[in-house]
Amino acid sequence: RVKAKWAGSQPKYPATNLALQNFDATYSLQLGEQWPSVRVSMLCEQKYGALVNNFSTTEGVIADLQSQGCRDFVCQPVGVGALERLQAPGFPLHDNPSTLESVGVSQDVAPPRLRTNIKCFVFPGGDISRFKPSRPDLYGMLGYYLMDAASVLPALALDVQEGHSVLDVCAAPGGKTLALLQTQAIRFLCVNDISVSRTYRLQRVLNSYVPKELLTEERMRITSFDGRKWGEIERDTFDRVLVDVPCTTDRHSATEDENNIFKRARTKERQRLPQLQTELLLAGIEAVRPGGQVLYSTCSLSQLQNEYVVERAMHLAREEHGISLQVVDLRPITRLFKDTFHFALDPHLGQLVLPHLTANFGPIYMCKLQRLN
Ligand code: SAM
Repeated sequence: RVKAKWAGSQPKYPATNLALQNFDATYSLQLGEQWPSVRVSMLCEQKYGALVNNFSTTEGVIADLQSQGCRDFVCQPVGVGALERLQAPGFPLHDNPSTLESVGVSQDVAPPRLRTNIKCFVFPGGDISRFKPSRPDLYGMLGYYLMDAASVLPALALDVQEGHSVLDVCAAPGGKTLALLQTQAIRFLCVNDISVSRTYRLQRVLNSYVPKELLTEERMRITSFDGRKWGEIERDTFDRVLVDVPCTTDRHSATEDENNIFKRARTKERQRLPQLQTELLLAGIEAVRPGGQVLYSTCSLSQLQNEYVVERAMHLAREEHGISLQVVDLRPITRLFKDTFHFALDPHLGQLVLPHLTANFGPIYMCKLQRLN
């Protein structure tokens, strides 16, 4: 009887089932024979990375992570094999030094590495060990932040330089904001999220990881505006803009019924996502200064939410605002991190991290645009 009552309280079609039906229909076409293995990986436990907090006492933290067999996937120089891949025939990076430079890849040392202070430790491929919760140091700062290591890639690809002003349009709960702050290069950071409760959560994260002296009004502004309106608030302003939009959060939707956007009651909200994403990206494009760069990212595999949104926003920017944009080549980044992440082979505009059983990160899509005028 108890069982019958329990069964009766369950939705007839759990949101996770609806999500998987939707994914099977669309992603089998999009990813072809790769889809079954991506599907299995998304249903298995996700792998995390430990983003080291440079504002804490890091020596002990790094030594502890290394003693567990983790490595920093960002700063550890790639091997000779990876260097060769960077210079592979048909991929003329060696003929075009500015391409490497444009993503902050230093060429004056061999093997190449990114010029950044961001450090993120991961367990080796195939090792599914979990990280221990981070502990505070003597000053109360936590040593690392646990997040999908692929979520660090948009912050790396944004290529923040010394003295830049940066806008994070959809920032909560703050993983990528924290990664951006680890560069220790930002002059002014504007952090925004439409959700007031999620902005509070973001504020708590910042308080646990960043010293008070760096959270002053001169260095940071935290707001809860509708990011779509940014063009009306501040135009042609920031050196870098991160637009990490709300999406179908595919891994979550495939595995958790709670807060699942595939619930029947949320159908309209889900169908409106590409429109919302386009408007947010367009606002980011308006907010960046001519010559500055915008990074668009999602944690979905959906072409409708990824490439289609980028194409549409570029079209609207040109037609309605007279803004021309150029897609920045992110292949140097994927070449550098090929040993850590499993990237889709031939995306059209951006790059896509596919979940894989031996590297179960993502999905993460990212595309970088440079504003030309
Ligand atoms: N960047 C965050 C991080 O790394 O932790 C994750 C961002 S999450 C994918 C998307 C966020 O967009 C949500 O926190 C949501 O509240 C916010 N959002 C949704 N609509 C928005 C809007 N119109 N303007 C600004 N933020 C919005």
